[in-house]
Amino acid sequence: MTALESSSVPVAAAWTCPFCPLLCDRFAVAGGPEGWALQGSDCPRARAALARFDALALSSAQPLIDGAACPLEAAVDAAARLLGTSRQPLFGGLGTDVAGARALYPLACRTGAICDPAGGAALFHGLRAMQDRGAFTTTLAEVHTRADLIVCVGTWPGARYPEFLRRCGVGEGGQAQVVLLQPTTGMVPDAPPAGVETVRFDGDLFDAAAMLAACVAGRAVVGAGGLLAALAERLRGARYAVLAYESARLPAQGALIVEAINRTVATLNQRSRAAALPLGGGDGASTVNAVFTWLSGLPLRSRAAPMGLEHEPLRFDAQHLLAEGAVDALLWIASFGTEPAPPAGALPRIVLGHPSFAGAAQLRGTVFIPVATPGIGTAGHLFRTDSSVLMPLRALRDDGLPTVAEVLRRITLALPEGAA
Ligand code: SF4
Repeated sequence: MTALESSSVPVAAAWTCPFCPLLCDRFAVAGGPEGWALQGSDCPRARAALARFDALALSSAQPLIDGAACPLEAAVDAAARLLGTSRQPLFGGLGTDVAGARALYPLACRTGAICDPAGGAALFHGLRAMQDRGAFTTTLAEVHTRADLIVCVGTWPGARYPEFLRRCGVGEGGQAQVVLLQPTTGMVPDAPPAGVETVRFDGDLFDAAAMLAACVAGRAVVGAGGLLAALAERLRGARYAVLAYESARLPAQGALIVEAINRTVATLNQRSRAAALPLGGGDGASTVNAVFTWLSGLPLRSRAAPMGLEHEPLRFDAQHLLAEGAVDALLWIASFGTEPAPPAGALPRIVLGHPSFAGAAQLRGTVFIPVATPGIGTAGHLFRTDSSVLMPLRALRDDGLPTVAEVLRRITLALPEGAA
C-alpha cells in the first residue's frame, strides 16, 4: 500500500464541498483516490469536480520550468526571479483559500502586484453597488428558516448551483414560494424545475430590476406590465422576501441591476423584512477579497504602489491590463480544479494550480507548480456565498502536494534583495 492510499478516507466521511460558493456541508464522500463517490447528493458539479482528483494525475504531478520537470526549490527560485525583475506583475485567478490569501498579500506588497480574481467583473457588480449605497444581505440559514418568497432575478441559479433549492429549504420543510423573474431580451432563457413560477418581463434586466424597484415603492410605472406589478405586490405582502441573483450572469454594468435590487430590498424593509442573496464569489474570489480587505482596508483591484495603496476598480481589471499590455508578468492561482484556466498569451507566467494544468504549462516562459486543493488534499477555509459565513474544509487525503500558502511564502522569502 502506498502512502497516498494509506492516508485516504476509506469509508463515507463528512465533507464540505469546495467546488461552488454554496459550500454544502451536509454530504459525505466515500471511496479513495481510485474514485470518490458523493453521498447524499447527486450534484453534477461536485461529481464532475471530484472525478478530476484521481491518483494518477496527482502522483505524477511535479513542478515544471519551460515544460521541463524540476525540483520544487528550483521552481520557487525561478518564480521569485521572474517577480523580482517584473516592473508590474499581475496576480490573477486567485483560486485559493484564507491561508493562501494571507500568504499572497505580503508577496503582492513586496512586488507591487495588482490583484484581480478570475471572476473580477462579477465580484465588482455587487461590491460597487454596496460601496455606493449599502446593501441588506442574508445567510442561507436565514433563507432556509424564514423566507416565504424567494425571487430569483434574471436567471435560474439551480443550473450553476445545483443544491440551491435545498439550501433554501424548498422541499425540505421550508415554506418559501420561488419565482424566477426573467427578461425576454438580453439573456438566454433558463428552464427552472417544476414548482418554480416564471414571471416574464418584456424588456431587458436593467428595465425589469428598475421597474420592480419603482413598483415596490408604490410608484405608477408606465410599461411595467401587470405581471411585474403583481410580483411587486407579492413582495410587499411577504413576511420575509429574498431577492437572489447570480453575479456572474449579470450583463456588463451589472452594478446598476444590483443597485435596483438593493433599492427594492431597502424599500421592503421599511414595512416588512427582506434581503438580497448574491450568489457568486466562488473559486476563492470572495475569500481572497475578504482577506485583502481585512489586511489592507481595501478590496481587490488594488496594489501597494510606491506612493501607498491604490484601489482602481475599473483600471485594475485584469482583462483590460492584459489586453493593453500594461503588465509584464503573471502569477495565476487556480487550486480548485481545471478552471479558471490562465489566459492565453506569451506573457511570462507562474501557475500554481491543479496538476492537470501541467499540459498547458509546457510553454516557454512558464513556471508551473502543482498545489494541493483545499477540501481535497489539504484542510482550509473559504467564505460562503453569503460572505459572513466562513466554512472550514477538511482534507480527504494527504496528496503530498504543497499548499498555495506554503509555495507563496517560499517565493516571498526567495525574492531578490530590494525587489519591489
Ligand atoms: S451545490 Fe455546489 S457546494 Fe453544493 S455539492 Fe454542488 S458543487 Fe458542491
